Amino acid sequence: MKEAKYYEKFNNQVKCLLCPHFCKISEGQISPCGNRINLDGKFYVTNYGNPVAINIDPIEKKPLYHFYPGSRTFSFCTAGCNLHCKNCQNSDISQNVRILNHSAYQSPKKLVESALKNNCSSISYTYSEPTTFFEYMIDTAKLAHIHGLKNVLVSNGFINPQALSELSQYLDAANIDLKCFDDYSAKRISGAFSNPVLGTLKFFLKTKVWLEITNLIIPGYSDDLKFITDMCQWLVSNGFSYSPLHFSRFFPTYKLSNLTPTPETTLEEAYRIAVNAGLRFVYIGNINHYSKDTHCPLCFRKVILRDGYRVTDINIKNGKCIFCDRQIPGLFN
Ligand code: SF4
Repeated sequence: MKEAKYYEKFNNQVKCLLCPHFCKISEGQISPCGNRINLDGKFYVTNYGNPVAINIDPIEKKPLYHFYPGSRTFSFCTAGCNLHCKNCQNSDISQNVRILNHSAYQSPKKLVESALKNNCSSISYTYSEPTTFFEYMIDTAKLAHIHGLKNVLVSNGFINPQALSELSQYLDAANIDLKCFDDYSAKRISGAFSNPVLGTLKFFLKTKVWLEITNLIIPGYSDDLKFITDMCQWLVSNGFSYSPLHFSRFFPTYKLSNLTPTPETTLEEAYRIAVNAGLRFVYIGNINHYSKDTHCPLCFRKVILRDGYRVTDINIKNGKCIFCDRQIPGLFN
């Protein structure tokens, strides 16, 4: 087993410094995220090299709409998560860690070779929570860069600054799931406060990593329009006006199977609030909505046209709108 990064000895325990839970783990115990164990006072990673899901996805599925649109991304994860969201869409792999941690070994080299063989331009660390396979991700990301592949993080953003700082050196894009803006709702859904996630967003804004943000609207949990207004105003006043915001429609799942899907009227209202607050690229996911296309912020013509996850046309050349020459925020071929 590989020794974990970011921990320290704490009396007879080890204290994990990777995410804001700062778990203290006793001898022989496994971490709550399921992927770390204290053995003889050393902290080890139990999921290194054990992916449980591998797919070739369109980059739009992450979702990333302004990052090499139409490209293929090699996507994988190990089991495990540092949050325990009631609405988890991947609970079979994020929460059943002990059962799944014995999949066939795949080295970072093997993953990079597979990405290249499948004509992918990036590798995405996604599905479960990449923070919990930090060491495997970093080693793969370093190798991916050497071979000309980009690295994409799809994360809940619940990670400590020092680890994030190291990781960001190898990242090219990130989609961060801002589950809820207010702490009460965030804690109710995921068991964790939102403040560290806001810190992660602010961190990325100061780097060259292209950032997009997802906000899932769950009826009765994260659909309070006051908090959506607060979130949009916070994003604008903190410099995120040009960071795409993806509102996502909730469908009943896992521990929230008793709820109904998010009403389209709520999504429309959230969209209106975000646009009025000054966010320039707002999208609604999980429904067929006119926001699916990207418009130039100057001439308002369509610069990226989509049909579901498929890009049907791109009117961007050298990163600029072909109609009015306005720079379009993002990274394009
Ligand atoms: S990464 Fe896992 S062990 Fe470390 S603090 Fe977070 S939940 Fe705890």
